[in-house]
Amino acid sequence: MREINKRKDYSPAEIEKIVAEKNVRFIRMQFTDMFGKLKNIVITPSQLQKALRNQMMFDGSSIEGFVRIEESDMFLHPDLATFAIFPWQNDSGNSARFICDIYDVEGNPFLGDPRQILRRVLAHGESLGYVSQVGPEMEFFLFMLDSKGQPTNISYDGGGYFDLGPVDLGEDARHEMVIALEDMGFEVEAAHHEVAPAQHEIDFKYANALISADQVMTFKYVLQVCAKRNGLISSFIPKPFAGQAGSGMHLNISLDDKEGRNIFYDEDDEIRLSAVARKFMAGILAHAPGLTAILNPLVNSYKRFVPGFEAPCYIAWSVRNRSPLIRIPTVNRDNARIELRSPDPSANPYLALALCLAAGFDGIERDLPLPEPINLNIYELSDEEREAMGIKRLPRNLYEAVEALMADHLLTETLGSHLCTKYVEAKLHEWEEYSAQITDWEMRHYLGY
Ligand code: GLU
Ligand code: MG
Repeated sequence: MREINKRKDYSPAEIEKIVAEKNVRFIRMQFTDMFGKLKNIVITPSQLQKALRNQMMFDGSSIEGFVRIEESDMFLHPDLATFAIFPWQNDSGNSARFICDIYDVEGNPFLGDPRQILRRVLAHGESLGYVSQVGPEMEFFLFMLDSKGQPTNISYDGGGYFDLGPVDLGEDARHEMVIALEDMGFEVEAAHHEVAPAQHEIDFKYANALISADQVMTFKYVLQVCAKRNGLISSFIPKPFAGQAGSGMHLNISLDDKEGRNIFYDEDDEIRLSAVARKFMAGILAHAPGLTAILNPLVNSYKRFVPGFEAPCYIAWSVRNRSPLIRIPTVNRDNARIELRSPDPSANPYLALALCLAAGFDGIERDLPLPEPINLNIYELSDEEREAMGIKRLPRNLYEAVEALMADHLLTETLGSHLCTKYVEAKLHEWEEYSAQITDWEMRHYLGY
């Protein structure tokens, strides 16, 4: 299975042959909506030829944020390189998947398809001579299911970073996840317990940005299945508990030239970072407020941006320190990269990568100057000191982030008006609904008034 599931340029005939030989009974035609939710239409091999001719149709009006009723027919174009057979089998046989691009009835890429938005940004990068590489670090929680099989936020585990409990339900599940990911073609580089109880991390090898975004979606799906088989639920909620670490999806980003050389590396530079890398980073810092609405899409995402839990609060970069938005990990020729630390795993990976790369390319194209690094603990500075150093805060909540997104022309243009309008509308609605809630905290503090 591992060999089949490594990304290859399959021909339709090769796919048909594998489906027959491996007794594939179901094929999931997958795509991602703008909120980062994986969707699929399941077909049997009897429909495979039709699907391979890009004729598989679905009703776009049933997907939130896609299209109005009167123009609802959409077509799924399977990306044949994403063909994979899932490592879990049932009695009737195997099931497989394609990740698809979405086209409208006229045969044009659908403007609201996050995967195509990323494709457009990558094509722009390639026109400038750059191949974008991204390595995500996925953090997540594993919680118990209740007796009715419903998710809870109860953890089974009192362990911490690198801990080994006597009976660690989470560790068994995590081992299974790593094996399933490898069977799906991932190169898993590390897996470990993270700081909070029931929190884990699995890292896999960086890849071309489109592949990486596809992998994030596959990762979440594989985890969901493996967790369930262990009586657990995998959760990508950014901050489940106040006072404990939240989950990030740090993005390690670099650019290669067409020959595959990492152009973020410069051996003559003091910290081995090239001028291109610096301008790219300046672009991300310049667009950071607006980017946040996509990188941190939930009301809950902003609860993670508090001091003391290795998540950023301020827009700055540093060579060593983990408190700023961008950190430069130790560099050697192969792995010169920047680590963007604000994204969390609830983000839509296609939109997140599209906007980060668009912001970085903008920095390069406009030759933006990089501010000085902040190599000290920003949290220990006073507000006045931060002000004097020109260090701004990330948006404090979803509302501020959406406002910053709307004010950022490059980002709204990159998303395209179709998706951007619907996204902003939905997020403002989410914010309004949340703001009208009365929380336990308010009761504890205000009931006595
Ligand atoms: N969990 C931290 C976060 O919220 C990151 C910890 C780490 O550096 O791995 O981003
Ligand atoms: Mg981590």
